[in-house]
Amino acid sequence: MKLVFEKSVPSRKAFRMGPRDVPSSVSIDESLLRKKPADLPELSELDVVRHFTELSRRNFGVDTNFYPLGSCTMKYNPKVNERIASYPGFAHLHPLLPQLRMGGMLTQGALRVLYEMDRFLCEIAGMDGFTMQPMAGAHGELTGLMIMAAYHRSKGTQKKYILAPDSAHGTNPSSAAIAGYEVISVPTGNRGILEPEEVRRHLNPEVAGLMLTCPNTLGLFNPHIAEICELIHGVDGLAYYDGANLNAIVGQARPGDFGFDIIHINLHKTFSTPHGGGGPGAGPVGVRADLVDFLPVSVVVKRDDGTYALEYDRPHSIGYVAPFYGNFGIILRAYVYILMLGKEGLKRVSQNAVLNANYLKEKLKDHYDLAFDGVCKHECVFSPTQAMLDNDVHALNIAKSLIDRGFHPPTIYFPSIVREAIMIEPTETESKETLDRFIAAMIEIAELALSDPQQIRDAPVTTPVSRPNETIAARVLDIASIA
Ligand SMILES: *Cc1c(COP(=O)(O)O)cnc(C)c1O
Repeated sequence: MKLVFEKSVPSRKAFRMGPRDVPSSVSIDESLLRKKPADLPELSELDVVRHFTELSRRNFGVDTNFYPLGSCTMKYNPKVNERIASYPGFAHLHPLLPQLRMGGMLTQGALRVLYEMDRFLCEIAGMDGFTMQPMAGAHGELTGLMIMAAYHRSKGTQKKYILAPDSAHGTNPSSAAIAGYEVISVPTGNRGILEPEEVRRHLNPEVAGLMLTCPNTLGLFNPHIAEICELIHGVDGLAYYDGANLNAIVGQARPGDFGFDIIHINLHKTFSTPHGGGGPGAGPVGVRADLVDFLPVSVVVKRDDGTYALEYDRPHSIGYVAPFYGNFGIILRAYVYILMLGKEGLKRVSQNAVLNANYLKEKLKDHYDLAFDGVCKHECVFSPTQAMLDNDVHALNIAKSLIDRGFHPPTIYFPSIVREAIMIEPTETESKETLDRFIAAMIEIAELALSDPQQIRDAPVTTPVSRPNETIAARVLDIASIA
């Protein structure tokens, strides 16, 4: 596809400027004047419309195709969320408007959303208080660890280490390091889960806490989760729940009931928000009752007269972690999503997410190596078979071949404890027909990997650019020049 500049034809126009309304007597310093005309594309209106429509059709998103990106929960985002988030009463609200008195009528609705969202998330997670401030899951992790540090400081204890399984999302050890802790990586057992004995082996009195997601990044639920939390509490450590995989258990089980003390929830995953390309997100953090005092300020409270207000007087608070109240638009989308689905609807989310993942797993396990057999939760992890690897067909080639077949590739090479991992998360919003088409494509690729591996190694062949250097492509916008 040509650049809009390459389509330019001298003196072609889509727009005529009105007569100039700046008096010609206004003098502008010579140094500020252009030396030659601006290099703008010259096109007709139709040229412009076609150019941008064509560009937009090259976008890949969950609204166009199946997007089974493991760990990311790329579910369909109901349009009602967008509609309500764009209401001027919300979208144009300024965070410095007064809460009460003059103008207070304008902010009460937004404060109510924040307050009720806190209540909803407490109910869903089994926690006693939430902050909506963190802007993403990773930001929630850092906030949670700062709360953990504040807790240990308040008790006058010196703690140094955070335990995290070797299957952890990369943000877990990074957040712990940024919060000033040293990370002890605990190996995953041969059942694919963190074993209590391993946790016990790595425990010491200087352990501040454990970071864990359950189900883990292999999609496996840990039946020893309560015991593991108890072990951590045994050294006065805190158990941190990485809630990015909440889609697997929402409405079924609550991290607070497992024994977790602190949790973040990726609203942009479980509670839907378009979040391809790294944002936007929201990572609210919830805590159990005796940690509520450490939550960031401000906190939304409901007064006896039924009005809502922001409270700042929290002497033990870790302070602000974001300007104002976080990514309000994302919180609002999640609020709408929760209200639309209700309690029963949220239960069906996790039921169908798990059902879809198990359906894919069963249909594909004779064609690819399944990292860990058994019932999975919302996602499952495969690898290429040895015969494929012998043919020089790797996870990357399989992913690229899916692009040619109209699917977004699954997550690959993560979790890193699985060789050549292909991590598939179908989500609950996909129909059986879509899953069947994906399964058929995966089986076709598996067969070609043995009969005509070159075809798989050459993929993708249907895209404008085939295989850019992925590191450079993320930094240099002109992909064609580096392909
Ligand atoms: C996505 C994810 C995170 C990080 O969340 P962001 O919102 O991307 O910062 C952490 N842990 C797991 C398991 C995840 O899938």
